[in-house]
Amino acid sequence: MTSTTGTTGLSMDVRTTAKRKVLISGASISGPALAYWLHRSGFAVTVVEKAGALRGGGYPIDVRGTAIEVVRRMGILPRLRDAHIDSRRCTFLNADGSEVASVAPSAVAGSVEGQDVEVRRGDLATALYEIVRDDVEFLFDDSIETLDQSDQGVVDVTFHSGQQRTFDLVIGADGMHSHTRESLFGPEEQFHCYLGYCFAIFTMPNTFGLSRELMMWNTPGKAAALYAVGDSDELHAFLNFHQPEPPSDALRDPDAQRDLVATVFADAGWKVPDMLNAMREADDLFFDTAAQIRMPHWSSGRVALVGDAAYAPSFLTGQGSSLALTGAYMLAHALATHRDHTTAFAAYERDVREFVTMNQALVDNGGATLFPTTVRALEQRNMMLRDLVTMPAAPARPAHSALTLPEWL
Ligand SMILES: Cc1cc2nc3c(=O)[nH]c(=O)nc-3n(C[C@H](O)[C@H](O)[C@H](O)COP(=O)(O)OP(=O)(O)OC[C@H]3O[C@@H](n4cnc5c(N)ncnc54)[C@H](O)[C@@H]3O)c2cc1C
Repeated sequence: MTSTTGTTGLSMDVRTTAKRKVLISGASISGPALAYWLHRSGFAVTVVEKAGALRGGGYPIDVRGTAIEVVRRMGILPRLRDAHIDSRRCTFLNADGSEVASVAPSAVAGSVEGQDVEVRRGDLATALYEIVRDDVEFLFDDSIETLDQSDQGVVDVTFHSGQQRTFDLVIGADGMHSHTRESLFGPEEQFHCYLGYCFAIFTMPNTFGLSRELMMWNTPGKAAALYAVGDSDELHAFLNFHQPEPPSDALRDPDAQRDLVATVFADAGWKVPDMLNAMREADDLFFDTAAQIRMPHWSSGRVALVGDAAYAPSFLTGQGSSLALTGAYMLAHALATHRDHTTAFAAYERDVREFVTMNQALVDNGGATLFPTTVRALEQRNMMLRDLVTMPAAPARPAHSALTLPEWL
């Protein structure tokens, strides 16, 4: 990469300005959360987001354990409690649509009823955005084109729009397929741990009269779920299937994704034929592999990663948003308490890595519970579900709360 500003006045300006300038790429969960805590710690923060505007709605996500304390300290916990989805039940079905068991959602998610919250991803993102938007500069519909650290002491950034600016630090909060990670550390393949599943999510009309509930249909290696959030006339449809190797070609081609999913589920019963029809019509289809990001380091020079960009745990853990919130808090704490960024990034990694590892390890529970791939595994899962109906709910997973948050403000 070539230097864009060299030792121009702009670079000198950064060095002599008291407030350190931080650019964050990504305005979903980890980006605005980090922006909030860095602003409160005296940093001048800019957030760049490639989408034209904040996206509302979306699939439900959980905030649990340590992350609940993060949102409480941000003052948005009451608002999230108001937006809590509060599903009544989670019903598991056999291949023919008959019921295996109907259980409390917290029993399978390992969350603590009355403490943890489940909200639409967009509701959390909006709550985070609204508490920082007046204090932080947001650049929508733009992205980082190049990052240049060759000029000592700053990062020269060229944006897709052509704008050139200089920052003291840059943080990639740009998700699982982070462009910041790729420009810093190289191709995603090195860090992408495929978990053996592909999934498609989309919305469809709620023509089945479902309300505040999740229905999950399984055969070995295949799952179809319909999630009715509140009394909405829209359902979140989810089709997940086991695939030994990631379908590299389909990942870049929405038509190929639709064809692949339709082929895999061609003989499936229950409501799956309706779901396949709806998938063909859906304008919000999201297809991806179930995967984790595992990296030996989360920073290089003056650039670091947070949230899914650094340590996506996959939806099988249900911990992505909680890691994003907690990671953002801990990164801000490290930068606020260590003036030297190298020391700060090392502290962030030292203090958060074990928490990340514990939560990424939850993936096996998630896979075994939601998506058994063999007849035997499915039978065992169904036995476990029937036991859950008669036994008290499983205790919360210790990994969710395995980190004590420091205070600095
Ligand atoms: C189907 C599904 C179900 C899930 N269920 C759960 C759950 O139950 N519980 C849970 O905790 N988590 C769940 N997750 C995971 C959760 O959504 C993520 O872990 C969480 O959103 C991570 O937040 P993030 O801010 O780090 O990244 P993301 O939410 O991925 O946000 C990245 C942001 O960066 C932007 N961006 C991307 N590239 C660029 C670029 N080049 N320049 C600028 N901006 C860019 C994106 O537009 C986006 O706004 C689920 C995920 C999926 C896909």
